This record gives sequence, C-alpha cells and structure tokens, in this order.
Amino acid sequence: MNSVLIIGAGAAGSVVAKKCAMNRDVFAKIHLASRTLEKCLVVQRECVSPITVSQVDADDAAQVIRLIEEQRPDVVVNMALPYQDLPIMDACLTTGVHYLDTANYEPRDEAKFSYTWQWAYQDRFKDRGLMAVLGCGFDPGVISIFCAYAQNNLFDEIHTIDIMDCNDGSHGKAFATNFNPEINIREVTQRGKYWKDGQWIEIDPLSVSAMIEYPEVGPRKSYLIYHEEEESLIENIPGLRQIRFWMTFSENYIKHLEVLQNVGMTRIDPVLYNGVEIIPLQFLKHLLPEPSSLAENYTGRTSIGVVLRGIKEGAPVSFLIYNVCDHAETNRELGAQAVSYTTGVPAMTGAMMMLKGIWMGTGVFNVEQLPPEPFLEEVARQGLPWHVRRFDDREFQELNEL
Ligand code: NDP
Repeated sequence: MNSVLIIGAGAAGSVVAKKCAMNRDVFAKIHLASRTLEKCLVVQRECVSPITVSQVDADDAAQVIRLIEEQRPDVVVNMALPYQDLPIMDACLTTGVHYLDTANYEPRDEAKFSYTWQWAYQDRFKDRGLMAVLGCGFDPGVISIFCAYAQNNLFDEIHTIDIMDCNDGSHGKAFATNFNPEINIREVTQRGKYWKDGQWIEIDPLSVSAMIEYPEVGPRKSYLIYHEEEESLIENIPGLRQIRFWMTFSENYIKHLEVLQNVGMTRIDPVLYNGVEIIPLQFLKHLLPEPSSLAENYTGRTSIGVVLRGIKEGAPVSFLIYNVCDHAETNRELGAQAVSYTTGVPAMTGAMMMLKGIWMGTGVFNVEQLPPEPFLEEVARQGLPWHVRRFDDREFQELNEL
C-alpha cells in the first residue's frame, strides 16, 4: 500500500495533503503531522477523503523517527521549514524511507540558501538505497524541471537562463508575505547575486531592477535576487554561461521592508529584551498574517516562467516556458492562494512520481536530474498547465540587455 507522511500543515503543506487526498489511487494512506495539532485538524476536516494527523516537533529527529516507525510511510514529504530539512533527512536514513522537500536547509543564524548541507548526504542516501528529492515546489521545482525539459527537447546546448517570478495578485493586507514570513524576508534581504562566465557576481540587496514582460500579466518591475535553484542548475545544465533570477515586489512591499529593516525588525541575531533573548524576525513573523490566511478575497494571478537561450542544430534559439495561476481559482478549489498552490501541487506530483517508481534512484537529487516529461504531464493534469513559446531575437535582446 502506498503511504505518505507529510510534515508541516502550513500554507503549502495543507495543499499537499488536500491534493494527496484527491488522488487516492496513488496515496492510499495519508498522514499529516505538524508542530501545532490544531492546524492539522483543520486540514483534516477540509480534505475530500480521510487522512490521519498528529503532532510532531521536526527539529527533533528522534520524534520524527518515532512518527515514521508508527506510520511506516514509503515517502516523507517535508513541508515544514528549511531548518527541519536535516533532522527529517536523518530520520529517513535511520528508518529507511525516501524523502522529498521544497526548500534547501538553512542554518538559523545565517541566511545562506545553499544546497551544500543536503548534497553532503549523497553517500549516506546512496549507501542506504534511498532517494532524497530536493526543491520540488515551483521555484525551485517546476522551473528547474522546465529547464530539464528544454535541455531534452528544445536545445542542443543551453547558454543563458532567466527565471522570472511575478505575483500579480492582491491580498488586501497592509503587509504580508505569500509564504513563511521568516524565510521570505531572509531570502529577500540577503545580498543578491547572479552567475556569469563561471563566476558569481554579487550585488547589494534589491539594488538592480528592470521592467520585465510577464505572460498574460504584462510588464512589471522586477528585482534581481539570488535563488537557490541557480546553484544546482549551474551544476546540472552543461554549457550554461549565465543564470539570473528576477522577482516582482510591489512598491508597498518594498516600502514596508525598508522600514522594517531600518528599525532592525528583520535581524536574525538574538537581541536581549527584558532579560529574554528574542530574534526580531521571529517576533515579526508572529505579528504578520499567516500565508495560509490570505486566500480569501485574494485576486490576480501568478505568472512564473523561464526564458532560455541556446543553440539548436547550429542556430541560436530562445524559448519561454511558463505557468499562470489564478488566486481566486485555487481558493475555490482548495481554499489556498496561488503561491501555496504552485508549491504544494508540484510537491504532491513529485511524491506521486516516486511512489509510481517513475522517479527512482539512490542518492540525493535536484529535480532537474529526474525525468521531466512524466512529471510535467502530471502536474498539468493536477492544476498547473504550462506553455512553451518561441521567444524572438528582439525579445531576447531586450531581456539580455537588462
Ligand atoms: P508556513 O509558515 O505556512 O508553514 C510552515 C509549517 O511548518 C507550519 O505549519 C509550521 O507549524 C510547521 N513547522 C514549523 N516548524 C516545525 C517543526 N519544528 N516541526 C513541525 N512542523 C513545523 O509556510 P509555507 O507553507 O508557506 O512554506 C512551507 C515551506 O515551503 C517553506 O520551507 C518554504 O520555504 C517552502 N516554499 C517553497 C516554495 C517553492 O516554490 N519551492 C515556494 C513557497 C514556499 P506552526 O503552524 O506550528 O508554525
């Protein structure tokens, strides 16, 4: 019997649980565990078929081991926070279970966004005959799989990649983040960088911006930031000369972020307050709306894609591959906003690929190393249709000159 254990009942984890519950032919047994039992109970009530739930603190590998021994899953889908990646991977190694996540491990005291720590598990997963799939959300995730698809089907060699992530939605709150606030703000406030001609070029946070044309949305101001899939794609796409990541932020988001930074609220080092050590960013997270609470009345769409340029049969060619996802539609289907939906649906689809044996191997894999076609066929069926369009030379020139 195919059995899945999902850890983390937040915005994206609840999408994974609800989608698994809609695919009982693959996920015969579903268990959802998270730090706060009440959140699991809410998700349990909203699933279309029965799932079981429990409480776990996944910072503690011993608790995860006990949970896995009780539930005996075939795969653990980690939808908690990046801090929990290593304890959950350790628990999978101890109990002999496959692993999948959507975000790289992060040490709490430094924003790194690097796969280094998880790649170091390569031999341990290989020796145990187990598979760990890293970064199976949208970006990283579907975007990386678009690149693998392009490598197989559209190019002889890919030379440049521009990942373009636009949330053109409006949640109506003064300030909120679409996924976990602590991780989102760590990501955006770190120094930016992009990769060109074999080296990383560093820039100050949010110091480079440009207008980018997004499919079905139009031109939107976008900022050059660093994103973790760049690190794995430069390893896995041979011949690559440049990779950049662009993301839209509203004026309002930037204004709030600037003030919060200026007053020290985004700090991740401990501060002594009334004799108690607090991390300002964790306190801020406590005050901000939960990303899972934004779905109601969220309007607009996400438009996330990748432009690739390279060579096919001796001639230069460029393609855009993208998905557009509507907040109101995902709310109607699952009670989720589109950012959690575009994260959770790929994670469920990746777990499905593993349980069906379509994605199988031993060791630690980034998603672009696995067969892209069956995944992309399935993810489209599950609610994330994607499109390929030829980019003409003028369009590419404009983008490349940014
Ligand atoms: P949320 O904050 O909504 O959810 C996180 C959940 O993890 C919460 O339910 C939280 O519990 C739970 N959790 C936290 N610590 C522990 C712990 N020690 N043990 C057990 N459970 C714990 O965040 P999101 O759902 O928005 O994001 C989830 C993950 O998805 C993040 O790692 C994020 O980086 C990643 N992500 C990936 C994307 C991609 O495209 N690849 C895009 C968006 C997100 P509690 O409710 O008690 O706080």
